[in-house]
Amino acid sequence: MTVIHSISCTVGFPRTGPKREMKKALEAHWSGAITAAELLAAAADVEAAAWRAQAEAGIDLIGLDGTLYDQVLDATFQLGLIPPRFKALDLPAPTADATADPYAPGGGLALYFALARGAEGAPALDMSKFFDTNYHFEVPELSDQSEPAANWSPLLDRVRRGQATVGRDCAVPIVVGPNTLLGLARGTFDRPTLLARLLPAYVQLLRELAALGVPEVQVHEPILTRSGSSALAPEFAACYAELAAVGLPINLVVPYDDVEEETYGWLVQLPVAAISLDFLGVPGADYGSRTAQLIAKHGFPQSKRLGAGVIDGRGAWADQGQALSLLCALRARLGADQRIAVQTSTSLQHVPYDLAAEPSLPASPPRPLAFAVQKLRELSAAAAALRSGAEAPVALDLSTFTGAPSPSQRQLVPELFSRSQPYAERRPHQVQYPAFPTTTIGSFPQTPAIRRNRLAYKKGRISAAEYRERMAGEIGFCIGAQEALGVDVLVHGEAERTDMVEYFGLKLDGYFFTEHGWVQSYGSRYTRPPIIVGDISRPAPMTVHEYELAQSLTAKPVKGMLTGPVTILQWSFPRADVSRREQAEQLALALREEVADLEAAGCRVLQVDEPALREGLPLKASRHAEYLHWAVNAFRLATGCASPGVQIVTHLCYSDFEEIMGAIDGLDADVLTIENSRSGNEMIRALAQYGYGRDVGPGVYDIHSPVVPSVEWIAAKLRSFVEVGLLGGDATRIHCNPDCGLKTRQWQEVLPSLRNMVAAAKLVRAEL
Ligand code: GLN
Ligand code: ZN
Repeated sequence: MTVIHSISCTVGFPRTGPKREMKKALEAHWSGAITAAELLAAAADVEAAAWRAQAEAGIDLIGLDGTLYDQVLDATFQLGLIPPRFKALDLPAPTADATADPYAPGGGLALYFALARGAEGAPALDMSKFFDTNYHFEVPELSDQSEPAANWSPLLDRVRRGQATVGRDCAVPIVVGPNTLLGLARGTFDRPTLLARLLPAYVQLLRELAALGVPEVQVHEPILTRSGSSALAPEFAACYAELAAVGLPINLVVPYDDVEEETYGWLVQLPVAAISLDFLGVPGADYGSRTAQLIAKHGFPQSKRLGAGVIDGRGAWADQGQALSLLCALRARLGADQRIAVQTSTSLQHVPYDLAAEPSLPASPPRPLAFAVQKLRELSAAAAALRSGAEAPVALDLSTFTGAPSPSQRQLVPELFSRSQPYAERRPHQVQYPAFPTTTIGSFPQTPAIRRNRLAYKKGRISAAEYRERMAGEIGFCIGAQEALGVDVLVHGEAERTDMVEYFGLKLDGYFFTEHGWVQSYGSRYTRPPIIVGDISRPAPMTVHEYELAQSLTAKPVKGMLTGPVTILQWSFPRADVSRREQAEQLALALREEVADLEAAGCRVLQVDEPALREGLPLKASRHAEYLHWAVNAFRLATGCASPGVQIVTHLCYSDFEEIMGAIDGLDADVLTIENSRSGNEMIRALAQYGYGRDVGPGVYDIHSPVVPSVEWIAAKLRSFVEVGLLGGDATRIHCNPDCGLKTRQWQEVLPSLRNMVAAAKLVRAEL
């Protein structure tokens, strides 16, 4: 009988702790309540608990995940790639010796957190979305002058603790690969030159790891999933030749998507012991991952272990046999001698910790859910089944497998996707404005009183009627404040909304909500994405009551306020059995009913926010058009029913939108409000250059900062929009609004800021 070589291996796990222990420890440390030593001890406990959970689930090779903030920041810090502005800082010197505080030799925890969170005189590193996930990493800043000064003691310390917890044979260090670090970095630098400078530091790390007796090291290089990665061939060849020469086996891990065919050709030839590939890609994406097809076509070198990422690392669903089917098909293609490690497609950092923490979830999802702990059991079960020579539950053809759900059969008539008149014809029938009409993006401060009331309602201390009454009071206050400030287009303030996605999810059928399903977004910030479990429908109006109440208090127009279908989808766990496109369509149809109801209630200006439109873009440029097509159509489907006289506004923020200008135009919104104030008007210039012809409301001040913008500062912004040539300088179509919602600010900041904003609009209006 042939021995089938199959093990289980993890490539990352939630770093939060089962009960958000990491968040609590970080915040306690930042507020001065616990010392650095206490923070490190808390982190060590969180990591050890995660590793023990993996050992208990029978994982053979445990990736030693863990971070105080972000794994990319960890690499930047330990490589000593500290931007110059942080070197001049007068930070508290690390007092502890290196054995007690492994961060001390690299500059100390104060420096580490200054990079992440900024310090007086040194703004933090920028944050950006990690590949196509909702996780944010700290963007390394490099230049041709960057010189690494590596000190890997935090990572080495983690490895020692890992070895003590799960044993030397199981404990595998994880490090962000040098090519990925360079690929994610910002700045002008010659990549091959910097790679050559980084390599000695990585060689040094691998030597130190080998000396600790680890069985292998995981080097994560997701950069290979991006378009055009085949151009990286020379750098990867040079890099891995040098790293392999150390003699420590390397598992080269490539999560988040497939690689291009050309890249696959040279990737599998690199001199590493194992290559780990993602067989699933984005859950629910129409295109899936072509990894299985690449292997069917080109095979895989027998000399290497294949890390088969066949269990979904970033979806909320249980596997249900697909993994074993895939593994059996791989075994059939590659032969029984092929060594295979059963893995998750990506790090499990993107899913909640443990389903067992959710006793109150409804009992019957359409298929079983699985969070990180459950997925561990799936990994070891699949590895054991493969080892025992089990047969596939369902025969699966590698050469066609993508993991993508079958396309929807639903046909919606084209008229549903368009307003009844084009913008130029319908605009005169809509609300008419003075030059630079003033408005806000939707939310006003979520005050302690609002939160207290919500909690009281949740805990059953006040009735639903009482809660509504208190929220009505907030809405009244908000309308009164805007009236007093002289704002032109009002909002109700979103007091009743905790979160722009959860609020709608709770009102729609087809959603599950968790109590403890937290996922790290960045640092100590976690989100709790709702889970789409079935077909979406809207049993009753969701926002009409609040709109009507607000509008009854003023003669000025009040904006209806909805979250768009793409953003709701993007910030939820999607279903895996139907496509994202289909789910966006279902959400759009539900929102369309709300749009119609708002119009019937008298609403004349209706905002549909799509801040997440850009972040859903696939990693490969060749797949952009398909995504943008359905994403834009979902927005149009949600809003297409509005009569010509109803002004549809949209709002975009958080990212660079220049790349998707055509799609933004395609939304066919009457007004586009867009984050702009932190940039030097690049977005506005790009819109003008594109010839964007619909109303625009570029943000005139940054809501992330507590600084109150002056009248002159805002006035200069408004003048600059005209100078740039936006809308041919037609100021009645250039709206004046902040960058984004005001919910994170305080009334003491909001009132003077908006007073100055209105004054600036009046000032510049008078100059015309
Ligand atoms: N209407 C939302 C608000 O003002 C928009 C939030 C967002 O763009 N993220 O809070
Ligand atoms: Zn925004």
